[in-house]
Amino acid sequence: MPRLGVCGWPVAHSRSPAMHEAALAAVGLEGWSYQKLPIPPELFAETVRALPAAGFRGVNVTIPHKEAALALADAASVAAREIGAANTLSFERDGAIHADNTDAPGLIEALAAAGWNPAGRAALVLGAGGAGRAAVWALARAGAARVEVWNRTPERARALADELGAWAVGEPREAEIVVNCTSVGLAGGDPTFKALPLQADSLGAGSCVVDMVYRDGGTRLLEAARTRGADVIDGLEILVAQGAASFERWTGRTAPRQAMRAAVGAIAST
Ligand code: NAP
Repeated sequence: MPRLGVCGWPVAHSRSPAMHEAALAAVGLEGWSYQKLPIPPELFAETVRALPAAGFRGVNVTIPHKEAALALADAASVAAREIGAANTLSFERDGAIHADNTDAPGLIEALAAAGWNPAGRAALVLGAGGAGRAAVWALARAGAARVEVWNRTPERARALADELGAWAVGEPREAEIVVNCTSVGLAGGDPTFKALPLQADSLGAGSCVVDMVYRDGGTRLLEAARTRGADVIDGLEILVAQGAASFERWTGRTAPRQAMRAAVGAIAST
């Protein structure tokens, strides 16, 4: 029976199993399963190489394995290569391991679903980790007029900007598309506007704010942006969009996005 999964360390918090199990059931792929695979970094490569023999067709990859996943693959998409990280591995029939990055197209799909095309827009990415790299690459590739990147540790923003064709900034200008790719907001509370270089009042109508972070009850950033009339995209929408792209790669079926959304409790983007 075909198996799928998500590799992480830790991975207990992941909503991917519920989302993919719902997707498999919705399209009638009986016998397929999707499970959590907690794998420590030192065992990552050898464990993943053993997965095809255990019936796995593919896996998602999350913190801290995204770079190691790209490194062990036999082939990789342009997105994974240029971003330098993979969140999706597919085990081909000939035994080859193919790496992809669906975080990048996931962001563009979620923006499109909310009526936003980055082409010609001024964009700001907060964070220079794996999610920040994927967002900068995706926005630049989609034709954004300018992509600024801010990071708490400025050297990382500079390195990312040089590599992917963005502008590293200490004090961002106002942007039409703002994507939070830091983990600020994960714990709840109200640290957002102290930790990030954003003024709540700049997040008004005519802008779109995306928060990669998701938590029950929503994040303070999205709440503030929504209150001021901005369009907002919850991190769960990105989770669904990146998961849908992985699902389609593995199964060849159109992903049932509504069933996936319902399974993770995504709120509607507006
Ligand atoms: P990562 O590689 O560990 O990067 C973390 C980023 O957050 C870095 O830029 C880091 O800045 C910044 N940061 C952490 N604490 C901060 C603070 N107190 N103040 C300011 N900046 C802070 O993680 P990642 O993979 O990029 O993921 C980032 C977030 O996006 C996580 O919460 C993750 O769960 C989420 N995410 C969601 C999806 C989705 O599908 N919705 C997909 C991918 C990631 P420094 O460089 O200064 O440390």
